[in-house]
Amino acid sequence: MTETKLCKFCKTEIPKDAKICPNCKKKQKGKLGIIICIIVILVIIGAATNGGNNKSISSDNSTKTESTDSNNSKAEEATIEYTSVSKQELSDALTSNALKASDTYKGQYLEVTGYLSVIDSSGKYISIDSGDDDFSFVNVQCFIKNDEQKAIIMEMNKGDAITIKGKCTDVGEFLGYSIDIDEVITN
Ligand SMILES: [Zn+2]
Repeated sequence: MTETKLCKFCKTEIPKDAKICPNCKKKQKGKLGIIICIIVILVIIGAATNGGNNKSISSDNSTKTESTDSNNSKAEEATIEYTSVSKQELSDALTSNALKASDTYKGQYLEVTGYLSVIDSSGKYISIDSGDDDFSFVNVQCFIKNDEQKAIIMEMNKGDAITIKGKCTDVGEFLGYSIDIDEVITN
């Protein structure tokens, strides 16, 4: 008598080396199957461990990146270089070549000098022109960002000389310049 085993599926007694049950025709997992299982499990564990390592490495990296970023942004805050430009220069740039003006000034930190021409009654923005002889239609609209800035503007009058530092968020042929105010400097 050859050795027998029970089919894993139908529990019929079958030859021990049978790979397929003669009764239910299902494959019997032999030692090879078990070995493959173990290998697969090891690979999965290995991958999971590596994944974990990678994760911790990448999280380390991201922490480093974050801290570097925050360092950078702190450094940036301290050393933002504002490009000095007059309202007249902004007007001229936009009038002569809107594309170039946009390329030059959009996204840049600007220190714009001019004269207060519009004070929005709701306190959202001011506009700057280049003085009495400013007949250009170029609008430099500066958005008030906090109460401190609003308080300064509150004390000013139309026509007063003004310098604002801020980031130029948009440049458009018709809308002119949009600037988010960082600081208002009165002369
Ligand atoms: Zn069977």
